[in-house]
Amino acid sequence: MSVERLTSRREFLKQGAAAGVAGTAFLSTDACTPSSEEGATASSGDVFRTLGRTGIRLPVVSMGTCYGITLVRAALDEGIVYLHTSSSYAERKHERLLGEATRDLPRDSFVIATSPELRYRYPKEGGRSLDLETSSDPATIVKSLEESLQRLGLEYVDMYYLASVGSREVTLHEPYLRAYERLKEDGKTRFVGIATHSNEPEVIRAAAESSFWDVVLTAYNFRQSHREQIGAAIDDAATAGLGIVAMKTQAGVYWDSNRLRKINMKAALKWVLQNENVHTTIPAFANFEEMREDMSIMKNLALTTQEKRDLHLGDELGLSGLYCQQCGSCLGQCPAGVDVPTLMRSRMYALGHQDVGKARQTLQCRNGTDMACKHCETCSVRCSLGLDVRSGALELARLLEVSDELLA
Ligand code: SF4
Ligand code: SF4
Repeated sequence: MSVERLTSRREFLKQGAAAGVAGTAFLSTDACTPSSEEGATASSGDVFRTLGRTGIRLPVVSMGTCYGITLVRAALDEGIVYLHTSSSYAERKHERLLGEATRDLPRDSFVIATSPELRYRYPKEGGRSLDLETSSDPATIVKSLEESLQRLGLEYVDMYYLASVGSREVTLHEPYLRAYERLKEDGKTRFVGIATHSNEPEVIRAAAESSFWDVVLTAYNFRQSHREQIGAAIDDAATAGLGIVAMKTQAGVYWDSNRLRKINMKAALKWVLQNENVHTTIPAFANFEEMREDMSIMKNLALTTQEKRDLHLGDELGLSGLYCQQCGSCLGQCPAGVDVPTLMRSRMYALGHQDVGKARQTLQCRNGTDMACKHCETCSVRCSLGLDVRSGALELARLLEVSDELLA
């Protein structure tokens, strides 16, 4: 029986258990031909795509992060298959929660991915804004996955990403590649992936050329000024057989820092999926309402005329939004040496995704909290997307202070 004939995980598990083959259709890798062919379930109508040479068939919407066991359970029950996390999320709490949420499910009825937390490079003037050091001990990668598996309560993950990669050099860094190869050979991960939200076209092309990586996870959305270049790199990588997963799909969630104007979430997600070489997306829905909204697009990916208009709302209203595309063009502009890309990414997490913990962690894992802006009268930084860096920094500082008071 094909999983695509079933309307929900509950029904699938019930029928699969009766047949003694629960879940196997999700993870079949029999059809390992590179493909982005689109198909819909016969009964639910949800659109599925094949994750490149992994052969895994996935609905076009997956789950980007774990905000609670009940939400994960509901998402799985509604048809989500792929759960994304990282050992860096919420100080490893998300992995533990995912372990709880999936504990009594057949292992082959869901797909799960995580990544290790490695040292970052600090940004350089006019250079990349987010990348990994190449000096981390590759043994850290192996140890990190073993610890992730313990927290998840699993024997293997389906994808293990090298995350926050911003250069060809790191994509092809041999000691890291050897560590990932070993994990695959040892059966700790079925596939290996590279994740990027800076300098994406270079990273995606390097991954495609490498013949090593199976999957690319990339930032991709309608706000990026280099979206066409990313789209072209995605096409080349998919042609080379890689699976493509998109993140940061909803571009910071709000057009304004007061959160009065929300981006049309469905339109933003559909925009990403107009590229048929994007096989699935991992929006970070934080509650049931957002989950249902994101999942509602799975039946029909066509953008309506109004949705197309909504994607230009910021331009019409003169709002630059909260999304920082990590382009690095602001690097070196601040006389006080503030790491503006990290500051603006942190602000996006705090205000857009309302994830203050992730915002704080983002700041702390770089060079401090960068609040020189509090004592600065005029900002000399010009952002490629028009973000007002000084007011953004002050909003973030206020939010972190309020959160500190609440925690005290
Ligand atoms: S407000 Fe001042 S300290 Fe902050 S980024 Fe702008 S120039 Fe630098
Ligand atoms: S703050 Fe603006 S210029 Fe700087 S990395 Fe972000 S989007 Fe680019």
